[in-house]
Amino acid sequence: MSKKEYNTWNKGKKIDKIKYPNWGIGFKGKKHSEKTRIKISLGNKGKNVSQETKTKMSNKRKEYIKFHPQMGKNNPNWKGGRKICPKGYVYIHLPTHKFCDCKGYIPEHRLVIEKHLGRYLKPNEIPHHINNIKSDNRIENFMLFKNRGYHRLFHIKGFCGIEGIIFNGSRK
Ligand SMILES: [Zn+2]
Repeated sequence: MSKKEYNTWNKGKKIDKIKYPNWGIGFKGKKHSEKTRIKISLGNKGKNVSQETKTKMSNKRKEYIKFHPQMGKNNPNWKGGRKICPKGYVYIHLPTHKFCDCKGYIPEHRLVIEKHLGRYLKPNEIPHHINNIKSDNRIENFMLFKNRGYHRLFHIKGFCGIEGIIFNGSRK
């Protein structure tokens, strides 16, 4: 066949509008649902979710749980907002915490030291379990290191300079 014929394959043909009611409309008139729009707007905000937004999200979740009784407290897996991760660390459900994960959990070992110090731990500050039992979260079982480097040094050498230690529960 000639080039001309190839380019005009549709010439003279009429689209069966009953068979293809949306022909030529494409995405025109299609709108994102409310849910999708929220998702998109949250996605655009990236990681800079404000405390206000976090609270809003947490409230939304509480509302959701109210109407989905299989979630949250009524779920048989719910253990009072406490769970142990495969590595042995204890996590507490605290969706209002500044540094909680996306599911609203915060490691208990960080929480215990925060309560003791009366401030949030910086993300690079590393708690260490003195007796190496990861679920033993008594305050006297903790050391807090300034960063990963000092923590690593302590594991390798068994000690590190006083400048690397923020808190030592064994020396209360
Ligand atoms: Zn350690």
